[in-house]
Amino acid sequence: MVKYIDQMHPWFDEHEASAIYTYLMNGGWATEFKKTREFEERIAEYTGAKFCSIMPNGTISLSVALQAYGIGYGDDVLVPDYTMIATPNSVALLGANVIFVDVERDTMCLDYDKMLEAITPKTKAIMLVEINGRYPNKMDEIIQFCNEQNIVLIEDSAQALGSFRYGKHLGTFGNIGSFSFSAPKIISTGQGGALITNDEEAIKNIRLIRDFGRERGGIDHYLTKGWNYKFTDIQAIIGLEQMKKLSWRIERKKQIGKLYAEHLQGIPEVEVPFTNFDETSLWFFDILVNDRRGLKDYLHSFNIGSREFYPALHSEPAYGYYNRSFPITEEISKKGLWLPSSSDLSNEDIKGICEVIRNYYN
Ligand SMILES: *Cc1c(COP(=O)(O)O)cnc(C)c1O
Repeated sequence: MVKYIDQMHPWFDEHEASAIYTYLMNGGWATEFKKTREFEERIAEYTGAKFCSIMPNGTISLSVALQAYGIGYGDDVLVPDYTMIATPNSVALLGANVIFVDVERDTMCLDYDKMLEAITPKTKAIMLVEINGRYPNKMDEIIQFCNEQNIVLIEDSAQALGSFRYGKHLGTFGNIGSFSFSAPKIISTGQGGALITNDEEAIKNIRLIRDFGRERGGIDHYLTKGWNYKFTDIQAIIGLEQMKKLSWRIERKKQIGKLYAEHLQGIPEVEVPFTNFDETSLWFFDILVNDRRGLKDYLHSFNIGSREFYPALHSEPAYGYYNRSFPITEEISKKGLWLPSSSDLSNEDIKGICEVIRNYYN
């Protein structure tokens, strides 16, 4: 039997298992408590943010980030057309309006000039998605614009844990940064998310919103409308163990990216988007090809998994703005393919995958 190489999987070992065992055998209540607070401290420490609040997932976290700044019904929020569906849906959940904006061809992140065209007096927030650990070319301009116009800047850094810009962790440039620990992310707690911020007022709001709006645990006095977006200490224990492995995984992901790039050289049909590996730990290794379906099926016949890029969200039935056009997103979403990217992929696997791709085009 030939092994199947999947596009991505989370991985845990005896460290997570024994930490959970010890916890449960010592009277842990499973729900969030000290371990969740410790996980928050680790994330704040690692990213260099003042505050962190752990969330049940990376969709709710984005929604809470907006709610913490009072964004809701009737407000416009700009979202890149090329992103994971959670980004616009977190806006829609609040009854706010999703306004799609096209992305840059090279970074696949929000295009500043097209963003300016979409601004109206109703624009209250911008979702800056650091897709695949990359960031927009005109990030400084976006930040400055938001500061001057009093527009809330939320960074969706779900794919950017371990990626930096000039030595500063992504997610620390806007008002709030959001992460996800879902199964395919670089570290996982099964489901999970986190918000980071330096804004004391925002973190207060976030902590109220995630705990029914109550003044304090056990005190039934409600300062705002909040929900139950708490975590569990069982997941936090997994997260704490995964954090110990993060630095190694980031380095490994960079090696994987460089090895792919090297071994895919000289195949004219395969476009490898540029990555600055000094800053970026690619979440998924990405390529752009014209006959994506053919390559995907061919890889599959060799037991190699791959995944197509997200579609252009404006034209999905959920949004249905079929009459709009976002040419860059439309192009890359048709051509993009993610190759196997788990951090435990071996060098031999990567070389083998590149061989199969080379054979396909021969
Ligand atoms: C994974 C992801 C999310 C959503 O996170 P969940 O934890 O799955 O809800 C949001 N945005 C981006 C860019 C993501 O990759």
